[in-house]
Amino acid sequence: MKMRFNTEDAFVQRIEGAIEKNVSLATYNTFRFDYCAEYFAIADTLDSLKALLAWAKRFQQTVTMIGGGSNLLISADISGLVIINRLAGIGAREHSGNLVSLTVAAGENWHQVVEYAVTQGWYGIENLALIPGTAGAAPVQNIGAYGVEIQNTLARVQVINKNTSDVYWINAKDCGFGYRDSYFKGQWKDRLLITSIELSLKKQSELLLSYGGLSERIEGKPTLQAVFDTVCRVRSDKLPDPVVLANSGSFFKNPIVSQVQHKKLKERFPSLVSFPVEEGFKLAAGWLIDQAGWKGKQYKGVGVYEKQALVLVNYLETNAAPLLELETQIKQSILDQYGVQLEREPVQLPLNVGGQH
Ligand SMILES: Cc1cc2nc3c(=O)[nH]c(=O)nc-3n(C[C@H](O)[C@H](O)[C@H](O)COP(=O)(O)OP(=O)(O)OC[C@H]3O[C@@H](n4cnc5c(N)ncnc54)[C@H](O)[C@@H]3O)c2cc1C
Repeated sequence: MKMRFNTEDAFVQRIEGAIEKNVSLATYNTFRFDYCAEYFAIADTLDSLKALLAWAKRFQQTVTMIGGGSNLLISADISGLVIINRLAGIGAREHSGNLVSLTVAAGENWHQVVEYAVTQGWYGIENLALIPGTAGAAPVQNIGAYGVEIQNTLARVQVINKNTSDVYWINAKDCGFGYRDSYFKGQWKDRLLITSIELSLKKQSELLLSYGGLSERIEGKPTLQAVFDTVCRVRSDKLPDPVVLANSGSFFKNPIVSQVQHKKLKERFPSLVSFPVEEGFKLAAGWLIDQAGWKGKQYKGVGVYEKQALVLVNYLETNAAPLLELETQIKQSILDQYGVQLEREPVQLPLNVGGQH
C-alpha cells in the first residue's frame, strides 16, 4: 500500500510515491524471516537516496539500509525507514602500468562485478566469486574467501552521511578493516551509508591459490578464468543456495584464541583445525560445531546445514525465535566443550537489539 500524506508540501509529495508502509521484508533477506518495515523504499539513484534521507530527517525516522539481505538476521519489525539499495553503475579507468580502477555503485550485485572483472582480464577479486549481496555491503564486513578480503583491493569508499546527506570518499586504510569487520559494522553504523566503492585491480597475473585447497581443485592451467570457475564450483558444492534453502552463509566467525589456549586445545583434540594469525590462532568454527555433533541437526523448522556446520538454515520458519534459540544452544555447547566463545557473523536487525553487532 502506498503512503499518502495529508500535506500540500511539494517536497513530501515528490517522494510520497516512493515510500510504502508496513512492507514485509521476507523477500529482502536470505533467511526469509517475515518481519515488516514500518516505511519502505527502494533507492536506485543517489538523488533518490538523498530525497529519502531528507524525508527521514524531516519526519524523525531512523534509516536502515539493506542490500541483498544475505548477511542479516532480522528478528523483529523494523521501525523507521528501510531503504533497499539498488544504486547502479560501473566504470573503469585503466592506468598506464599494471593498475585498473574499477568504480562500482553500491547497489550492484557483487558476483556480477567479479564476473565482469574476470571477463576483462583484471586480477584481484576472483577468489571472492559467488559471495551473495551488493558491492556496497562488501566493505561492511570486509568480505573474504580463499585467503582474499575486499580490503586487499579496495582503494576507497564513497559514503553519504545519513543526517547531513554530505557525500565524500574515505580511503580504505581508514575504514578499520579487520576479520569480517569494519567501522561500517561498528562505530559508523548509525551514521554512514556506502554509495560507491573503488577497487584497484591488476592487469598482470597475480593469483592466490594457497588457501582452501584451491590449487589442487583447479583443472588444467591456473588462469584467471579457471580460478573463478573453480571457486564457483567448489562453493556451489559446499554451500546451500539461498534461493533453494534459506540461509545467510557462515553464521559464526572463526574464533581467535591465544597461543596458550591453542596449545591446550591441540593436546586435547589433536585433529583440531586451526591457522596461525597475528594474535594467536584462528580456529575453524565449522570444525568445532561439527565435532560437537551439531552438523545436520534440525530444531523447530531451522537447523545446521548437513554439508557445512558453520551454516545455519531455515527450512520453514517465518520468525527468527527458533534460530536464536538454536544459536544459544550451539554457543553454549562450544563453550562447555572447548572453552571457546563463538561470535555471530550476520548483522541482527533492528540495529541495537540483541547486544551484538
Ligand atoms: C550462501 C552465502 C555465502 C556467503 N559467503 C560469504 C563469504 O564467503 N564471505 C563473506 O565474507 N561473506 C559471505 N556471505 C555473507 C554475505 O554474502 C556478505 O556479507 C555480503 O557482503 C552481504 O551483502 P548484502 O548486500 O546482502 O548485505 P545485507 O545483508 O543487505 O546487509 C548487511 C549489513 O550491511 C549493511 N549495509 C548494507 N548495504 C549497506 C550500504 N550500502 N552502506 C552501509 N551499510 C550497508 C546492512 O544494514 C547490514 O547491517 C555469504 C552469504 C550467503 C547467503
